[in-house]
Amino acid sequence: MKDLSNNLTSEQAIALEDKHGAHNYHPLPVVLKKGEGVFVWDVEGNKYYDFLSAYSAVNQGHCNPRIVAKLVEQAQTLTLTSRAFYNDTLGVYEKFVTEYFGFDKVLPMNTGAEAVETAIKLARKWGYEKKGIPKNQAKIVVCENNFHGRTVTIISASNDPVATDGFGPFTPGLISIEYNNISALKEALEDNDVAAFLVEPIQGEAGVYVPEDNYISEAYNLCKSKNVLFVADEVQTGIARTGKMLAVDYSGIKPDVLILGKAISGGVLPVSAVLASSEIMSVMTPGVHGSTFGGNPLANVVAMEALKVVKDEALEENAMRLGELFRLEMNKIVESTNLVKLVRGKGLLNAIIINDDEDSTTAWDICMKLKDNGLLAKPTHGNIIRFAPPLVMTEKQIMECVGIISKTLTEFNK
Ligand SMILES: *Cc1c(COP(=O)(O)O)cnc(C)c1O
Repeated sequence: MKDLSNNLTSEQAIALEDKHGAHNYHPLPVVLKKGEGVFVWDVEGNKYYDFLSAYSAVNQGHCNPRIVAKLVEQAQTLTLTSRAFYNDTLGVYEKFVTEYFGFDKVLPMNTGAEAVETAIKLARKWGYEKKGIPKNQAKIVVCENNFHGRTVTIISASNDPVATDGFGPFTPGLISIEYNNISALKEALEDNDVAAFLVEPIQGEAGVYVPEDNYISEAYNLCKSKNVLFVADEVQTGIARTGKMLAVDYSGIKPDVLILGKAISGGVLPVSAVLASSEIMSVMTPGVHGSTFGGNPLANVVAMEALKVVKDEALEENAMRLGELFRLEMNKIVESTNLVKLVRGKGLLNAIIINDDEDSTTAWDICMKLKDNGLLAKPTHGNIIRFAPPLVMTEKQIMECVGIISKTLTEFNK
């Protein structure tokens, strides 16, 4: 193993971040220095199962050798040209990614939030130029408890006070309705100024909230009948996480606009993408939108390899099979203890709901114990713990993880 150490102890590393960094996160107190596949190691050499996968960015496993090899090779050749010039990787990637997901066009960005912003701009411009919405009147319908990122426009669509308090004034034109409520959507779409419906097929950050089976397809059909774009934010649910390539695949629909991020690079670089038809994407003309790093050569080769790995290693099938096994085993725990109320999810995007108040520390305390027992997970909203390991997990490994979770919950005393 390569010596990556600067020999910091956990205490020292945490103290440095505490002193010199903005405190905009509340991490579990573990300092990681190495990752491989489903495992990460801390600076003291302790090994853990990673059950967060960097919020589902590392679906292909930590430091996936195929992806890293492409990164290194391209890094020694050409890293960034900007879009002021053509480069020999972008077109290849654009052809690859559009064929992979079945769309005409892609607009490459870097982070998930940027891709969501891009989709909002795309939907608005489409609304004016193609749908005929009067100038500056376009509305985007969003769902309560969504998570689409952290920019000012995106938090304008949020009803989470932690995300919004102190950050106003907010971007107008974002209409929030209840998630998983078709009649609320129907009512909202009565307004002819609605350009798009922006939705997560499963709400990840909200606590892996899975809507009714027919919700997504009915919402899609409503959008079609009202000439409203159906925009799917699959930044977290996409790329095999839920047992299908996209979570919308469970509903048999194809969104008008698809937003991807996180695992599209296997967690190697910030890469995101907005995919749409030629008709929709045609409203993007030279100069109207861009990003210095969007579509850079490193990102292009990394994303292509990361997507190839998903198919070559059959990660959809693996996530589907191991997810079913995991929920089966978790349900046994739910039955045997009143500490856990229920388990829910699809594929390897799952969560358990702790039987305690929203604002209790129980979920956090359980995550601390899981850490001591060799498994890293993080509470989402108060009393919910998300379980989202890399999809390269084996059956033997997931059964070992079930053992760790079971032991931890059985031994846990409030
Ligand atoms: C993480 C996430 C984003 C934001 O991605 P960033 O890369 O953190 O900006 C957007 N949408 C969803 C559904 C996400 O889970």
